[in-house]
Amino acid sequence: MNSILVTGGTGYIGSHTVVAFQQAGFDVIVLDDLSNSSEQVLDRIERITGTRPRFYLGSIANQALLNSVFASHPIDTVIHFAGFKAVGESVQHPLRYYQNNVAGSMVLFDAMQKAGSKKLVFSSSATVYGDPGVIAYTEDLPLRPVNPYGQSKRMVEDIARDLQASDSDWSVALLRYFNPVGAHPSGLIGEDPRGIPNNLMPYIAKVAVGELSELNVFGDDYTTPDGTGVRDYIHVQDLARGHLDACRYLNEHKGCTAFNLGTGRGYSVMEAVDAFRKASGQPIPVRISPRRAGDLPEYYAVPDFTRKELGWKAELNLDDMVRDHWNWQKNNPKGYDS
Ligand code: NAD
Ligand code: UDP
Repeated sequence: MNSILVTGGTGYIGSHTVVAFQQAGFDVIVLDDLSNSSEQVLDRIERITGTRPRFYLGSIANQALLNSVFASHPIDTVIHFAGFKAVGESVQHPLRYYQNNVAGSMVLFDAMQKAGSKKLVFSSSATVYGDPGVIAYTEDLPLRPVNPYGQSKRMVEDIARDLQASDSDWSVALLRYFNPVGAHPSGLIGEDPRGIPNNLMPYIAKVAVGELSELNVFGDDYTTPDGTGVRDYIHVQDLARGHLDACRYLNEHKGCTAFNLGTGRGYSVMEAVDAFRKASGQPIPVRISPRRAGDLPEYYAVPDFTRKELGWKAELNLDDMVRDHWNWQKNNPKGYDS
């Protein structure tokens, strides 16, 4: 049986995607350097699916390792999650981001090319749009990312597009995720950020579990219905399923195509807090704080193209997202170290 190689497969979105592929009957191989994840994820995946994925510990930048992985397994498709993702850190350490996200991806693509394994699903981000001057994002907007993290994602998109243009055997899906939240309903895998979370939902979850005292709401004077920032949160289970649909699409379509993965509607910071209060029964104190530099007031995906081409649409709503995020957090108050 041909295998699926998942880079970054012990990470947050990767682990949920590995479960989805195993449950759909695929043989899954994980490669991860554990720079932002725990090996325990493999035990948890095994508890959910009954199968432990084959695991290679190492970096996508390790050419020799990649060549041996491709030589040892007939890899049908690569799902490429591996990379760094913290916007603020990327501003402080741009070289780290270009090195790991861009140079690392080039080593991976080179190994794929040499092995003749030319189907790629790439984890891109809504960050590639930058500040396009509209709030409903379609895939054809110009890409003008405003920080090194977003630039690194756009560069990898460009590289993949050029590669496909040079060799029509390549088929590539660029998946632009909006704001992934939630966890597997088992509560066995979920998001486990190291240190103080940057993102809203893991921060709320740590306030709910008592590890942090209050949430700083970054601005309540935006031109949005309640003044707080609006984002398109998407359940990680819906996102994982999107990768299955993208993989099927690549079997039938050559080319390099970008797809938004979002619900198509936005929720404000205070709507997210209220939903989490309801799901957890915890008070979740908030403090209104200054706006965070670089934040946009509001945006969400237009998922119509994805629905038409991939047949995918998000099924789960904000209540599902916070219920499952809370279930994971309360069962694993210290993440995988609990
Ligand atoms: P994550 O940090 O949980 O997962 C990334 C995984 O990649 C980690 O397990 C890490 O150890 C691994 N990794 C990093 N560099 C590596 C390297 N050089 N070689 C091998 N493994 C390496 O992040 P996530 O939230 O699961 O995100 C997965 C992908 O989706 C990333 O590319 C990210 O940029 C993208 N993305 C995430 C979000 C989000 O909000 N979570 C939004 C849009 C896009
Ligand atoms: N946010 C907030 N407090 C936090 C983290 C985030 O008020 O501690 C707000 C942020 O200003 C934005 C929304 O929550 O309006 C989502 O932020 P996140 O960092 O999760 O995603 P991104 O800004 O990258 O879309």
